[in-house]
Amino acid sequence: MAITKPIEQEEKLLIQKAYRRMVRSIKSEVHPEDKVNIRKAYEMAVSAHANQRRKSGEPYVMHPIEVSRICAREIGLGPTAIICALLHDVVEDTPVTLEEIQEEFGEKIAKIVDGLTKLDGTYSYNSPQAENFKKVVSTLIEDVRVVLIKMADRLHNLRTIGSMPHEKQLKIAAETNYIYSPLAHRLGLYNMRVEFQDLCMRITDPDAYREISEKLQQSKNERSRYIQEFIRPLRKKLDQLGMPYRITGRPKSISSIWNKIKTKNVSFDEIYDLFAIRVIVDVPLDLEKNICWQIYSIVTDVHPPIPERLKDWITTPKSNGYESLHTTVIGPKGRYVEIQIRSERMDEIAERGFAAHWKYKGIKNQKNVYEMWLDNIRDILEDEVHDDPVEFLSDFKTNLFKEEVYVYTPNGDMKILPKGATALDFAFSIHTDLGYHASAIKVNNKLVPMGYELKNGDQIQVTTNKNQKPNDDWLKMVITGKAKSKIRSSLKEEKRKKGEFGKESLARKFKNLKVDFDKGVETLIREYDYKNHPELFYDIYTGEFDLSELKKFSIENHQLIKKKEDQVQQLARIEKGEKAPADDSVHRSGQSKILVNGEPADQYEFSLATCCNPVQGDPIFAFFTAGAGLKIHRTNCPNSTHLMANYGYRVMKAEWVDKIGDSFQVNLIITGVDDGPGVIERLTNTVSSKLGLNIRAFSIEGTGGYFEGKMSVLVMNKNQMELAIRTLKNLKGISNVIRES
Ligand code: MN
Repeated sequence: MAITKPIEQEEKLLIQKAYRRMVRSIKSEVHPEDKVNIRKAYEMAVSAHANQRRKSGEPYVMHPIEVSRICAREIGLGPTAIICALLHDVVEDTPVTLEEIQEEFGEKIAKIVDGLTKLDGTYSYNSPQAENFKKVVSTLIEDVRVVLIKMADRLHNLRTIGSMPHEKQLKIAAETNYIYSPLAHRLGLYNMRVEFQDLCMRITDPDAYREISEKLQQSKNERSRYIQEFIRPLRKKLDQLGMPYRITGRPKSISSIWNKIKTKNVSFDEIYDLFAIRVIVDVPLDLEKNICWQIYSIVTDVHPPIPERLKDWITTPKSNGYESLHTTVIGPKGRYVEIQIRSERMDEIAERGFAAHWKYKGIKNQKNVYEMWLDNIRDILEDEVHDDPVEFLSDFKTNLFKEEVYVYTPNGDMKILPKGATALDFAFSIHTDLGYHASAIKVNNKLVPMGYELKNGDQIQVTTNKNQKPNDDWLKMVITGKAKSKIRSSLKEEKRKKGEFGKESLARKFKNLKVDFDKGVETLIREYDYKNHPELFYDIYTGEFDLSELKKFSIENHQLIKKKEDQVQQLARIEKGEKAPADDSVHRSGQSKILVNGEPADQYEFSLATCCNPVQGDPIFAFFTAGAGLKIHRTNCPNSTHLMANYGYRVMKAEWVDKIGDSFQVNLIITGVDDGPGVIERLTNTVSSKLGLNIRAFSIEGTGGYFEGKMSVLVMNKNQMELAIRTLKNLKGISNVIRES
C-alpha cells in the first residue's frame, strides 16, 4: 500500500529527530551493546523503507519509529522490543529477509519479527473476526511482546487513520473494539485501552465525540477550580505523613462519559463525576498498604465517604495485576468525587500493565495471577476440540475478559475464577482428576448442585468417586475453558472407546461379506459424509448407522459398490419432477437407548423392569424372561441376586447409550418435619419449577409432626435424579430423601 517517492533532505532531518525522540523515551538504562543494536535496527529500517511513503504522504519509516516509541514510552518495553518494533514491517514490505535479520540481530529478535510478520500476513479483514482473534492470541503465549508490539502498531495506525477510506476505518475500529481493547484491558494497559476506545468512538460516533470533547474543554476551568478546592484541605494533613506524594485530578475519558450518557440515559451536564482524584505516594514496598490506608483515613476525615463504594484492590489485586484503593466521597457542594489511592509502584502497574508487572516480578503473588491467566489461555488454545473458531472465541471471551470471583479451598488457599464459574469449574481448576471424578460438592459445608454458581468468599470442598466420569450434561454446567476442554476430550475419548465396539462389529460384517476393511470403511465415510473414522464407528455402536445399510451396496472385487437406482424408475421420477426419496434410514435417530451385548436392544422385545425402575446411568443388566422378552433391571435390584444366581444363562450384558431422549420414572421417598402446609408446595415447586421435572404422582402422610411422602418423578438420567435428591435434601424441613429400592 506504500507510495514510492524518494525522501528529501528536510524529511531526513525529521526522521532523525523522531528517532532521537524515541531513544530519549526509553526508561530503563540501556546497555551500550543494545544501543548499538537499536541504532543498527533504525538504519536498517530507514534504508529498507527508503522510498516508501504512507497514505498520508509522510516517509514510511516514521511509522516503525513511532511504534517503537509507543513501546518504550507507553508500555515501558526494553531494547529487544524496541528493535523488533523498528523492524516490524521490514520483512513484509521490503526486500529484507528474515535470515538477514537473524544474522544481524540473532534468533530471539528474528523470532519476534517473524511472529509480527505472520500475524500481519495471515491476517485478513475479510476472514471472520474469530479467526483473526485466534491468531492474535496464539502469538500471545509464544512471546507476549509480539502482541504488545502489535498493539502499539495498531495504536499508531489508529492515531493516523485519517487518510484511510471511511469504510476501512469502520472495519478497523470494530476490530479494535473487539480484540485489542479487551486485550489491552486484560494486560493491564489502562491508558492504551482508553485511547483505543476514544479513537474508535471518533470513527464510529464522530458527532458525539466532538460534542463531549468540546464540553469537556468548556468546563475545564470550572473543573480545575473545583479540584483545587477539593485538594487544598487534604494537602496539609498529607504533608504531615512525611512521604513524597502527588495528587492528580484527571477527567474521565470521552468514551467512558459517552457510555454513561447512553447507559444511564442522562445528559452531559447531569454527570457529576467527570473526573477522578488520584493520590500517589512514594513509599517503600513494606509500608505500601499501611500508608495507603492512612491516606484513606485522612481523606475520609476531610470529606465524608460513601462506605459501600470502598474497593480494596490492594489486599486482593485484580487478576490483571491492578492494585489500588478506591472510594467515593462527598466533596464541596455535595458532589460525589471518586478517589484512588495507590503507591508509585501500583501506579506504574496500573498505567503500563504487563511490562511494568514483569519489572516487579517476584513481588507479592502477582506473578501467579498473570501466570494463571496465561495457563488458562494455553488450556483453551491447546484444546484440540476447538476447531471451530467461533466456539473458541466464545470460550475465550468468557474466560479471559470477565470479572473474577474469589473463592477458597478447604485449606484456605484463594482461587480466582471468572465470574459465573460453577462448583464443577472449581473442581477442574484444582486438578483435572478432581473434576473428572467429582461426585458431590459442598460450598460452605452445604451440598450444592455441580452447576452451582460461585460467589465471592465461598469455600468449596469436592468429594470424588473413582467411578464417576463426565457426561454430556456436564458441558452445560461449566463455563471455564479448562473444564470445558477437559470434559470435551474425556467425552471424545469415551466415544472413541465405544467406537471400538462398532469397529469390531463392522469388521465382523465385512469379513462375512468378504469386503476389504480399509476400502470398505473409506467407501462408507465417503457415501455417508462422515468427518472421520471414529464418528462412523461410534454411530455403528449406537445404532445411529444401521449395518443393514450395507444392503444398498453390491460387492465386487472385495469392495463396496453403491447399487445404481433403477434407471427407468429414475427417469420416470425426473420427468415428474420428484426428488429422490428421503433416505431416512441412514441417520435415523437411535430409538434404542440400551445396548444388549453391544447391539441395540430394540431388535428384541424389551422393557424396563418395574421392580427397580432403572434410569439412564444406572448400572443395568438384561434378563431374558420366559414370555415377556427382555427385562432391563438395575444391577442392585432386590431381585437381581436371585435372577443371576438361578438363571445366570439368561442374564445378558446391558448398557446405556449416552443419548438424551426418553425419561424414566423414579420414586423418591421424602421424610421431614411437618411444619405446616408449606411443605407440599415447597417440594412441588422445587421439583417442577426449579428443577423443571415432571411429577407423575405425589402422596404424603404425616403423624406426630413427621411426614413421609412418595413422589414419582420423570428424569432423563441418573445425574438429574441425583441433582433432584440433593436439591430436595437441602430444603427447609426435609430430613431425608432416598430413592425407593
Ligand atoms: Mn505497522
